[in-house]
Amino acid sequence: MPKADRRSRRTFITAASGASVSLSSAAEPDVKVLYAELLPHEFRKRLGARPIAYLPLGTLEWHGEHLPLGSDAIQSEGLMIECARRFGGIVMPPIHLGPDRGRPAPGGGMLYGMDYADSTRPPRQLDGSCYWIPKGLHLQIVDAILEQLKRAGFRAVFADGHGPSRWSWAENLEEREARYGLKLFGVTRDIASQWKSQVDHAARNETSLMMHFRPHLVDLSQLSPDRSVAPVGVGGQDPRDAGAAYGRECLEASIELVRRMFVKAGLLA
Ligand SMILES: [Zn+2]
Repeated sequence: MPKADRRSRRTFITAASGASVSLSSAAEPDVKVLYAELLPHEFRKRLGARPIAYLPLGTLEWHGEHLPLGSDAIQSEGLMIECARRFGGIVMPPIHLGPDRGRPAPGGGMLYGMDYADSTRPPRQLDGSCYWIPKGLHLQIVDAILEQLKRAGFRAVFADGHGPSRWSWAENLEEREARYGLKLFGVTRDIASQWKSQVDHAARNETSLMMHFRPHLVDLSQLSPDRSVAPVGVGGQDPRDAGAAYGRECLEASIELVRRMFVKAGLLA
């Protein structure tokens, strides 16, 4: 169906269903779910139907020579857009700053995260990484966002993305739930082994997810065709074995876990 026809059909469905957002229209691929794009009346409808906010935790970080620097937020936002289309809710703009391990560099300055991974020999500042903030500042930023989301009328928040930000979020879920009176969801330790999204660093998993979400941003020709040459600053299975179909499979497994969390919490039937 041409795009214009789909839009008019959705307008009809929405008008016919009154104030609440019709889930049949919400499942359509072009429905607006990004917070920054909503008009106030659209915001009111989506918030009223499902007061869930999604917070993508990203970075601007080296993800091998073959993936873009913003891969973390592209993947976490991509998953959340899909969740919002299926389950309702509104997707916040990603945070591109986050904590990570750090240590002084031999020649001065600091090394962070993948700068001193096993696959980075010798350890060095990897090109393009520009995201590190202390853990305490990250906690403060997320606290401030939660306070504003609560004030705006949300009752639940799902956050995920970049590993160290994911774990910081998961560690503080219960304390923050008590402090803000919000229901909070993340990749907690009990589901981590089943979670399939962003579970390596620029390796087969993240590369496959990126090939699903944004194939035109992935360039495997930047990696050596010689399998004995290990990609620099990459952690996990070889990204040269990645594929969009596997990315889609991983995405669906994670979306199913989100659905189950929401059902368990009584947010979805
Ligand atoms: Zn990543």
